[in-house]
Amino acid sequence: MALMTGEQYIESIRKLKLNIYMLGKKIESPIDDPILRPSLNSVKMTYDLAQMEEYEDLMTTKSSLTGEKINRFLHLHQSSEDLVKKVKMQRLLGQKTAACFQRCVGMDAFNATFSTTYEVDKYYNTNYHENFKNFVKYAEENDLTIDGAMTDPKGDRGLSPSKQADPDLYLRVVERREDGIVVRGAKAHQTGMCNSHEILVMPTIAMRPEDKDYAVAFSVPTDAEGITMIIGRQSCDTRKLEEDADLDVGNKNFGGVEALVIFEDVFVPNERIFLNGETDFAGMLVERFAGYHRQSYGGCKVGVGDVLIGAAALAADYNGAAKASHIKDKLIEMTHLNETLYACGIACSAEGHATKAGNYQIDLLLANVCKQNITRFPYEIVRLAEDIAGGIMVTLPSEKDFKNPATGSLLDKYLKGVAEVSTVDRMKILRLLENICLGTAAVGYRTESMHGAGSPQAQRIMIARQGNLSHKKELAKAIARIE
Ligand code: SF4
Ligand code: FE
Repeated sequence: MALMTGEQYIESIRKLKLNIYMLGKKIESPIDDPILRPSLNSVKMTYDLAQMEEYEDLMTTKSSLTGEKINRFLHLHQSSEDLVKKVKMQRLLGQKTAACFQRCVGMDAFNATFSTTYEVDKYYNTNYHENFKNFVKYAEENDLTIDGAMTDPKGDRGLSPSKQADPDLYLRVVERREDGIVVRGAKAHQTGMCNSHEILVMPTIAMRPEDKDYAVAFSVPTDAEGITMIIGRQSCDTRKLEEDADLDVGNKNFGGVEALVIFEDVFVPNERIFLNGETDFAGMLVERFAGYHRQSYGGCKVGVGDVLIGAAALAADYNGAAKASHIKDKLIEMTHLNETLYACGIACSAEGHATKAGNYQIDLLLANVCKQNITRFPYEIVRLAEDIAGGIMVTLPSEKDFKNPATGSLLDKYLKGVAEVSTVDRMKILRLLENICLGTAAVGYRTESMHGAGSPQAQRIMIARQGNLSHKKELAKAIARIE
């Protein structure tokens, strides 16, 4: 099959028998659920843009395995230029959705697993790389969305996987059979799981020999027997359930959701196993995946930042404050911070290099610097956006009050800004700001910026490891003429 259209993608998800729970109920038709649908629309955008000529170069490329045209989200990067294009594509998607479009996790897991399985096979004479290449071809041919799953619930953080009171707190192999393995456990914070065709599972930390059963990587369809997804609660999420919900939602068409995904004795056939007990390679897979995903944030969060800066500027236009020098300066600062994030995403891509398997990997130090900045700058950008928006962003009466004949005209009159802009348009921008700063999209723009792709301390460990302090000391000694 060639590239799927957005509509074909939606229909392909409709066919899956996903086992999803949310707000205490089983969701029978996730495609049509008002809370889940905007997140599906965000992924759909990765298909829609790939159909458009103006984005062809960014959104599509040639498969390194088959030579066929594929969506870039399924690509094994072949050059630094590919890595740069990846970041640009993510910025574009962030601009178009102002939400998490979810498909990057699979792309990052693809590239990390491709290079790691190659090295595992070389060392242990296993067959994981071939298995994985076949899986990539299958995904490319069918233009699938893949959920990359890394984070285990982790229980007592002071104990390793095999030392936990409950052995299932890290996902593990519970049975090894002739034809495959049976796995049990869970993966947390799964962005896009309910909008994906397949899930690619990886270990979450470096492991010791006693954690053998936990060093496992594999893929299964998202509707495989034994998988349950429980959708996370987001700030303001149930606004989408209100009758005629529109303006109050802030971003009506797009969003992102996360799920806790539980694996209750799920069978994985041999041909979909990519790591099975080789504990010494778990760390490599984790480090590479995290590196790619830390690069990713230098694209997607920047795109959402573009929308946020635009919304803040419009809020100032709409209340007549745009000409004030401090407003202009705040917008400059927001832009400066946002472009600094982008610069990091581009820099770690431009400094990429080939792995032993042939696909390209980002510069790890710069990718970790990128993500460390992401843990901070969006918070400052949000602070400035809230400053510009004014208190009305959080005290604005509801859409229903605007529609109520008893209060509507009063709100229209007293919440007016400049004469030439309607009160409703002003309300739309304030609700969009609310959505990104502290509503459902804040999950992605703020807290995910903190913890997604690894919490801040994880990057500091990598920066310490990659920073090459001894080289810097040598430089200083040479200048100071110390023998
Ligand atoms: Fe992609 Fe960003 Fe969402 Fe991660 S947080 S899946 S990089 S859009
Ligand atoms: Fe993420």
